[in-house]
Parts: sequence; C-alpha cells; structure tokens
Amino acid sequence: GVPDAERPFRASDLVVERSTVRQPPVDLEALKFGAVFTDHMFVAEHAAGRGWAAPAIRPLAPIALHPAAQVLHYGMCAFEGMKAYHGADGRMRLFRPEANMARLLRSAHRLQLATFEPQEMLACLKQLLVLDSGWLPAREGYSLYIRPFMFSSSGVLGVAKPIATTASILLSPVGPYFKTGLSPIALFVDEHNRRAWPGGAGDYKVGSNYAPTIEPQVRAAAAHGTPQVLYTFRESAQHPDDAAFEECGAMNIFFYIKQRDGTRVLATPPLAGTILPGITRDSILQLARSWGAAGGVDDVVERRVTLAEVQQAHQEGRLLEVFGSGTACIVQPVGSLVRVNGEVYTAAPFDPEAGLAARLQRALMDIQYGRVEHPWSVAV
Ligand code: PMP
Repeated sequence: GVPDAERPFRASDLVVERSTVRQPPVDLEALKFGAVFTDHMFVAEHAAGRGWAAPAIRPLAPIALHPAAQVLHYGMCAFEGMKAYHGADGRMRLFRPEANMARLLRSAHRLQLATFEPQEMLACLKQLLVLDSGWLPAREGYSLYIRPFMFSSSGVLGVAKPIATTASILLSPVGPYFKTGLSPIALFVDEHNRRAWPGGAGDYKVGSNYAPTIEPQVRAAAAHGTPQVLYTFRESAQHPDDAAFEECGAMNIFFYIKQRDGTRVLATPPLAGTILPGITRDSILQLARSWGAAGGVDDVVERRVTLAEVQQAHQEGRLLEVFGSGTACIVQPVGSLVRVNGEVYTAAPFDPEAGLAARLQRALMDIQYGRVEHPWSVAV
C-alpha cells in the first residue's frame, strides 16, 4: 500500500515549556565565546515514517542519545551560526536569516537528515528569541549568537540514511570574537593540511569539516601564536608556488590589492566547492560592488588568489589589506600571514578609520544594528 505521508515540520505545532530557574546575570566583560547559554532551547525530532513530532521550546538541558546514535560515530551533524542584534530602535534584529536557514537545509540534505520548511524553522527561532530576549546585550559589538544544528539520532550502527533526526537551536550572548577586536590578527598559512578538496564536501557546514581542523589550529597556535589557520590548496605537488588561498577555519578571506596599473581590486577565492559560501562574504561582495571606484574598489572579483601573487604584491608595496569575514567576527583585519619556514608577510599598517575592512565592518554593523534601513536586517 501507499505509505502514510510524514508529518511536516510546523511552527504552529510549537509547544513552550518555560524555565523556572533564575540564572545569575551575565558579566559582559568576562564573556567567553559560546560558553554561556540562555534559559531555553529549541528541539524537534523526526522519525522516518512518522515525520516531525511537535517542536518544543523548553529549558536548556542535556539531550539523551542512544549510544549507537550515528552522530556519535560518523559525525552526522550540520550546524549554522547567526546572530541577533539589539537594534537602534530597541527591536531585536536578525541579519539575512533566510540565508542561514537555506544553508542549513542544504547541509541537512547532504547528510540525508530530515528536511524542513525554512520559514517554519525561522518562525520557531523567532519565538525562542522573543522568550529569551532579556539575554540580548544592548551593547555595540555584542549580540546573541544563534546556533541552529541538526544531527542523526538514529541508534543503528549502519553507515546509512538516518532514520531519526534531531533539530535544535541554542542561544548564547557573545561579545567581539577576537580579543584584539578590530586590531589585526596574524594567520598561519597552512601549506600542508587541506581543509577540503575538489569533489569533497567542503562547501557544506557539516561537523566533519571542522573536527580535523583542530589539530592544525592547535599546532599553529603553539608554533606561531596564530588564532586561526588559513588553508591553501594546490593541484599538484610539482607546483608549490601555485598554491592558492582557500579560507580560514571559520572565516572566508579577502585580499585588497593594487594592480600594477593602479586599479584597486578586492579579491576572494571562488565558490568552487571547497570553501563555505559565507553569508558575510556574499554581503561584503555586494556592498563593495555597490561602492565601486568611489568607495575605493575599482574591481570586485571571485577568483583564485595564489600565494605567489600575494607575496609579489606585498614585496611591491601593493598589498593594501587582508581581512577575514564571518558571522562571529563580521570583518577581521589580518596584519600578517605566517608561513611554515617563518617567512612573514606583514601588510601595511592597518588604518582603523579609513581602511576598507573598517569601512565594510561599519557598513555591515550599521545594517545589523538597524542604524540604517536595509532589507538584510529583519526585525524579530
Ligand atoms: N568559512 C567557514 C569554514 C566557516 O565556518 C564560516 C562561519 N560560518 C565562514 C567561512 C563564514 O561564513 P558566514 O559569513 O556565513 O558566517
């Protein structure tokens, strides 16, 4: 016979159980990224054949799992990172939330987890935000970090399509991602470890892309004191100088270069399947394109950027700026690129007022905090 249709994911089925625990107030000065969580969490469970059970908002608590749950064995999990900001008008604001929901859905599909209607998930997120809105710091540079995630809770050891999916959302008040704030960080340019490769799954936000990056990151931090690794890729060992930049452990990367003919180019590696399609990356590309030459960018390009090109531009005094982009840091100036043999490229001194990274950071934050009207900013 024809199987019964699975029950769809519906925000209108949401059940809310309020917390009765009073947590101590947050010390914004001592806030560590992602270490403090709000009173409530969102949870929804899907079972093959039945569909989604009623989604719930309930007090933050551990999730019980069968020890055979696939997520514990095969890393079958996907996640997102987004933020809610305290708007200039006092309202809570999200930044391009549909883009995060669409990316989560795409990641879930790659892992064959249960799927959902993005608008329904966003509606649940908004209800969670309203309930925990008291946790949103009303301070510049601060926000509520939002961590939607999904995983296989299927307690069957086969490497196979999950028969049970859990979707959840956590909220965490956060401040500036890097302790240095807008002052430049150093990045270790890893020419040995690969984060992803053509034909792989590097362009999905799945846990399995992150777990193997910890060892290179720890190693680089110990050897060079750098907080993140900048990954590279080259097609062939025969052409070491042809290595191209990819992205960082949790940021995309931009190079602001003056060409020999004097034109100023903003370049970032292309979305060719090995890097995450960052929402901040896309926003920066759109902003810089709209600014054009008057805004200091004659050309905005998504193309391969090789180590050789950047090294040459630096030697000729044409490397204007290097910066990372991501939800956590927004825009992060990079002061130096450290290679394994100790070779260090240091960009020209960063201008915190007039630099392109600083102007992009300001423009994005003006939108995120609702100081300027923009369709990217969505009031909750
Ligand atoms: N690259 C990686 C590997 C990331 O984890 C992130 C953070 N999501 C980014 C880039 C930046 O993406 P976004 O701008 O969407 O936060």
